[in-house]
Amino acid sequence: MDGLQRIVGAEHIRLGVRVGDRMRQGTARALVRPRDAEQAAAVVAWCYAHDVPMVPVGGRTGFAGGAAPLRDDAVAISLERLDAVRALDPGLWRMEAEAGVTTATVARRARESGLLFPPDPGAPEESQLGGTIATNAGGPHAFKYGVTGDWVMGVEAVLAPGELVRFGGPVRKDVAGYDLRGLLCGSEGTLGLVTAAWLRLVPAPEAQLPVLAAYGSIAEGCAAIERVLAAGVVPAALEYLDAATLEACGAAFPGGALEGFVVLAEADGGEEEAARVRAELVEALSQDARAVHAPSERGAVRELWRWRAGVSYAVAAARGAKLSEDIAVPLDRLAEAIAETLAIGARHDLEACSWGHAGDGNLHSSFLFDPSDAAAAGRVDAAAHELFDLALRLGGTVTGEHGIGILKAGQLARQWAPAAVAAHRAVKAALDPKGLFNPGKKEP
Ligand SMILES: Cc1cc2nc3c(=O)[nH]c(=O)nc-3n(C[C@H](O)[C@H](O)[C@H](O)COP(=O)(O)OP(=O)(O)OC[C@H]3O[C@@H](n4cnc5c(N)ncnc54)[C@H](O)[C@@H]3O)c2cc1C
Repeated sequence: MDGLQRIVGAEHIRLGVRVGDRMRQGTARALVRPRDAEQAAAVVAWCYAHDVPMVPVGGRTGFAGGAAPLRDDAVAISLERLDAVRALDPGLWRMEAEAGVTTATVARRARESGLLFPPDPGAPEESQLGGTIATNAGGPHAFKYGVTGDWVMGVEAVLAPGELVRFGGPVRKDVAGYDLRGLLCGSEGTLGLVTAAWLRLVPAPEAQLPVLAAYGSIAEGCAAIERVLAAGVVPAALEYLDAATLEACGAAFPGGALEGFVVLAEADGGEEEAARVRAELVEALSQDARAVHAPSERGAVRELWRWRAGVSYAVAAARGAKLSEDIAVPLDRLAEAIAETLAIGARHDLEACSWGHAGDGNLHSSFLFDPSDAAAAGRVDAAAHELFDLALRLGGTVTGEHGIGILKAGQLARQWAPAAVAAHRAVKAALDPKGLFNPGKKEP
């Protein structure tokens, strides 16, 4: 480790460190914190030359165990000191930021210039741009605006055996080579270390107007979601929370206690445009609804989204712990997936619930348990496997946004045909011939 210490300095290396994310922790032989991209490249070069596995670490908010080392000879590389916004060109709707800048800072800096960086995964004050790119994170507004990779014009990364490279840059179109920029988005640290990115921004909408409607059943709620699409309305967000989720968080809803199956949509745009889309949303969602709530005052809208951001924590607190997965299914199978989540929980004697990004068919199917109940862990594991089976049976995916990490190890080979998995492995072998970037993740 002396070589690494010489590269980053004694104060930026710690030995025998526990590191990981929201789901898994592991022990790394060392954790290093390079100062800049060049130092990060030197760290990778040293590790590659000495056959040392590397685990990139961002804000550690991941839900798949991606930032947890599986081997205790691994070196964890934290990008937290790469925290500069290198360029912000408001007139050109673009920003270049380093990997350690938090997702909230990217959004805030854009907003201060009247612009929007739409990806909004749920722990923005902690998650970092590098981790958000490496997981290709989504969030509520991915329905209209897409996921993180859709906003990345260029990636700067350290590839094996320690080369600092750039794919794309401050250009809005570039079809010169294979889409290696896109390949790094969602690669979960298994192909290289992201050090910075050029981001595309758009003018921030003047108004954001949510509409929330409560229904008596999953079927009524999902029919309302399909009605929104069929009517040709384009909400910025189209979310749902099932009745069991509301048992954990409905009482705290700022507009008064909520129960039933809830659909939460949001209209955005210029003042007039947002008001028009909101009226269309109210019309599409009102049929069969027991209640419709459409706040327009800025404070109330902020409160509503703050409440939505707390849902995951409220559900976890209900029994002390939860496993939340993130399967995604074709939209016409959403109601079935929501109902089956509850049935799977019941089969394994677990309380279950789900909420998520309805418009994207993306469920956070969750199984609640008491962490002091040793037997529950096995039941939760079995329930998760049944859930993955369900996603595949419905023609969906085992992960819509959190990634494979450790938690879903082996699932890609069940989801893809052998030839597709072989192509995936060929990419990994070409970019990381020694298999030292985040070994055991994505595709073991
Ligand atoms: C309350 C809560 C709500 C969430 N809501 C959402 C949501 O709505 N949508 C969603 O998609 N996600 C969501 N997440 C998951 C998580 O926030 C995102 O995936 C997040 O953007 C990950 O960023 P991070 O910096 O914390 O990454 P980490 O957890 O530190 O790392 C994630 C993965 O990326 C790799 N990695 C990290 N940095 C780099 C780098 N610089 N280069 C290469 N690889 C790297 C790691 O090795 C690991 O495999 C949520 C998490 C929490 C806690």
